[in-house]
Amino acid sequence: MDVAPYTIYAVQYAHRQTNSTEVFYGDYHNTPMAMDYFVWALSNGEHTVIVDLGFVEAVGTRRGRQFLRCPSQGLAEIGIDCASVEHVIISHFHYDHVGNYALFPNATFYVQDAEMRFYTGRYLSQPAFRHSIEIDDLVTLVRYNYEGRLTFIDGEQEILPGIWVHKVGGHTAGMQIISVQTKDGRAVVASDASHYYHNFEKNVPFMTLHDIPGMYDGFRRIRVLADKPELIIPGHDPMVLQRLHHVAEGIVSLG
Ligand SMILES: [Zn+2]
Repeated sequence: MDVAPYTIYAVQYAHRQTNSTEVFYGDYHNTPMAMDYFVWALSNGEHTVIVDLGFVEAVGTRRGRQFLRCPSQGLAEIGIDCASVEHVIISHFHYDHVGNYALFPNATFYVQDAEMRFYTGRYLSQPAFRHSIEIDDLVTLVRYNYEGRLTFIDGEQEILPGIWVHKVGGHTAGMQIISVQTKDGRAVVASDASHYYHNFEKNVPFMTLHDIPGMYDGFRRIRVLADKPELIIPGHDPMVLQRLHHVAEGIVSLG
């Protein structure tokens, strides 16, 4: 079947300074590092799909992040009106990926069964897991489920022609990555299955995690799904802004 190839946009909306010991498992060098925050848009002229929502300014500020702009402003720069978007994939439920649901009143949100099961289950109150969750976001997702606005996926599924989601776990119980048909081949929006290029390139887990073997399996799945390593987009790496095509300030594209 012929599918119009997609262009993938990475839109930066926030920033913070951290260090290597906080992000790379087994690293004790405390090397200063930057971390950028993105949402992604997939567009082929016919369909527009948003991947992740970003946090709202108040949450980012409370957590010490530098909020650069509302993700909707960045998306507007590439011609996307959030209010008319119909498809939003939520890679996982961490606060920096689900905050701006209110910008998308007409969207269906694609989530993994395992992610909802975990964060409505017995371990939510454990500090290792609750730290990365904004409870108001989680409650909203439960409410959206009640209203029929969530589409659940268990594992792997093509959600539109040319766009697949794949559960990998590792970082969270139901972490999912997205593979996308572009003119250059199949690309992967890894989101936090690989925060940095360094994670999947060197097989180094991120410090926040659900299970380490799942994270290794995720790195392998990312590499298998992408037709070329250059077609992999990690979740938080400032290098994304250098390696992909410049579109506008804080916005780059692939395909
Ligand atoms: Zn994240």
